[in-house]
Amino acid sequence: MATERTFSILKPDATARNLTGAVNAVIEEAGLRIVAQRRIRMSDAQAKKFYEVHAERPFYGELVEFMTSGPVVVQVLEGENAVAKYREVMGATNPAQAAEGTIRQKFAKSVGENTVHGSDSLENAGIEIKQFFDDKDIVG
Ligand code: GDP
Repeated sequence: MATERTFSILKPDATARNLTGAVNAVIEEAGLRIVAQRRIRMSDAQAKKFYEVHAERPFYGELVEFMTSGPVVVQVLEGENAVAKYREVMGATNPAQAAEGTIRQKFAKSVGENTVHGSDSLENAGIEIKQFFDDKDIVG
């Protein structure tokens, strides 16, 4: 297995409920290292670009509105097999289907307000990290 980096977002439902520390604890307990982290307010343009693969989906407008509704924490996570590992730690998109002990099972409110984002491939991880971080801001 190789050391990888993946991109993570703690979504507005997490910051609104003061869950950033609790979610980070699950991330770190899983062996992933937070090598960059910043709290931001995502602009409408940033959110639209970030989720452009979903532009044709019926929930796209709702998703963009949600992601810009409050602060988010953008992160780079590093570790062995980090992309797949974080997807496992996050749990299924719909919290009702998320496995026991996953972030979404523990904290998510609904399929939309589901607490975290994680890249779905190594290629997308690279693209997403570049959208929010400069190389110099990632300290491994
Ligand atoms: P993920 O990779 O597990 O985050 O899931 P997807 O790539 O399929 O969807 C991206 C994000 O869109 C999800 O994390 C949700 O926040 C949102 N989303 C997905 N499906 C729905 C839905 O049916 N309704 C709403 N409101 N949001 C959704």
